[in-house]
Amino acid sequence: MVTASEAETQAVARELAATLKPGDVLLLSGDLGAGKTTFVKGLAAGLGIDPDEVSSPTFTLLHEYRGGRLTLYHADLYRLDKTATDDLGLEETGVRDGVLAIEWPDRLSHDISDAKLIRLEIVNDASRRITIETTNY
Ligand code: ADP
Ligand code: MG
Repeated sequence: MVTASEAETQAVARELAATLKPGDVLLLSGDLGAGKTTFVKGLAAGLGIDPDEVSSPTFTLLHEYRGGRLTLYHADLYRLDKTATDDLGLEETGVRDGVLAIEWPDRLSHDISDAKLIRLEIVNDASRRITIETTNY
């Protein structure tokens, strides 16, 4: 689908959030500025977490937002390379008690099974194409 604003992208994420279960992993791919963090804000809102708490993790690799229907874990792997993600234990993080959203999942050293892949593409200044697919390895 194509969204025409940041608010519309967040609305798509809010709807998806309603369907999430503990242990779900979302892989958010797309260029810088495509809307990955914006999407995570929408997930937060849909889970009952203040979206303003969500920021681009800069030096903190993994953020944790509590107080919603499910705990939201948010990882940004932009600065890592594949070998550095080996020891993160991200999968274990997600399955405990919440859902895990990962920006730049191409940095992961191995596939995460049953992840939902969300691809964001820049169409123009205000538009983004969002593709959501469920993968099964
Ligand atoms: P990323 O995390 O992928 O680098 P961000 O979510 O941090 O991207 O930033 C996306 C930027 O694009 C924001 O400045 C946002 O306002 C802008 N934007 C413009 N149109 C849209 C849209 N339709 N959906 C999401 N973001 C949009
Ligand atoms: Mg981001």
